[in-house]
Formats: sequence, structure tokens, C-alpha cells
Amino acid sequence: MSRLDSFIRRLTAQRDILNAVVELVNGTEGPVLEFGLGNGRTYDHLREVFPGRRIVAFDREVRSYSLSTPPTENMVTGDIRESGQAFVGIGAALAHADIGTGHDNIDAITLTWLPQLMVGVLVKGGIAVSGLPLDRPELEPIVLPSGVKEGRYYLYRRI
Ligand code: SAM
Repeated sequence: MSRLDSFIRRLTAQRDILNAVVELVNGTEGPVLEFGLGNGRTYDHLREVFPGRRIVAFDREVRSYSLSTPPTENMVTGDIRESGQAFVGIGAALAHADIGTGHDNIDAITLTWLPQLMVGVLVKGGIAVSGLPLDRPELEPIVLPSGVKEGRYYLYRRI
């Protein structure tokens, strides 16, 4: 599979999973956290499927498309490893982390802190969606929407 095909499949998986969790998330109170604002594409999608819900986005710096940039009070800059700690206990209904790089050595470092952070920010019953696997006993894998291949993107419920 070419990198282009792989990229398209990852984005399709992202969108299909975010669409699939809408009902689950709508049954739970709490903000949505977007770890890795990037261009703001998934942030824009989250805004569309969760109208009225507070969405807090994180990135090292703001580099998003202007129309997909959160208001200042909902934009947190800096390294998520540190900036995310202030949000532990916030009781998020959904946390989406799209901070994988495709470089195993970099992602291995992210995986030393991201799973614990995801557990910490979610309310019980909250949903974790991630481009990297989150291996924590408090995160129960949920069946992926049909069409999303196992291992392409990851979906969990906080228990
Ligand atoms: N989902 C986004 C979209 O649809 O536009 C794309 C996210 S992009 C793949 C990943 C982003 O995560 C990058 O902008 C990068 O700066 C950010 N990122 C990765 N690791 C980070 C960290 N430890 N702290 C802060 N930002 C991080």
C-alpha cells in the first residue's frame, strides 16, 4: 500500500470513528479534548458533530487554518505531556489524540505518558479515540466501526 493510500485510510478511519462515537458521547456530560490540533481538520469535524459542547484543543503552537482555530480560552499551547496535566480530573466525555508521527522511536516516547494522561482526563464511561494504541487496564477497547481495520486507529471506553 502506498503512503498516500495509507494516509487516506487513516483519515477515513478517523472520521468514521468520530462519527460512530457521537451517540456514546452524547450520553455523557463533559468537554471534548483534542490532543494535536494540527491543521484543525478533526477539530472542525468535532465542532460539527458536537455542537454546543466545549472543545479544548492542544498543540505545541497554533498552526491551524484560521476558521478552524479555537477561541483563546479553549486553546492550550505547549507540550501536551506537561500542558495536559492541568486537565487531569476534568471529566472529559471524549478525548481524541492524533499525535502519532509514524516514527517508532518518537511514538515510543509518547506512549510512555499518553495512555496515563488519557485515563486521567476522561470521566468514567468517557471515550478515547487515538492514532496510537493506549495500553491501560482502565481503557476497554470498543469494537471499531465496520470498514475500519484493526490497528489503523484505536477506540476505547474509560472504565
Ligand atoms: N488531527 C489534526 C487535524 O486533523 O488537522 C492533525 C494533527 S497532526 C497529525 C499532529 C499534531 O500534534 C501536530 O500539530 C503536532 O504539533 C502536535 N503534537 C504532537 N505531539 C505533541 C506534543 N507532545 N505536544 C504538543 N503537540 C503535539
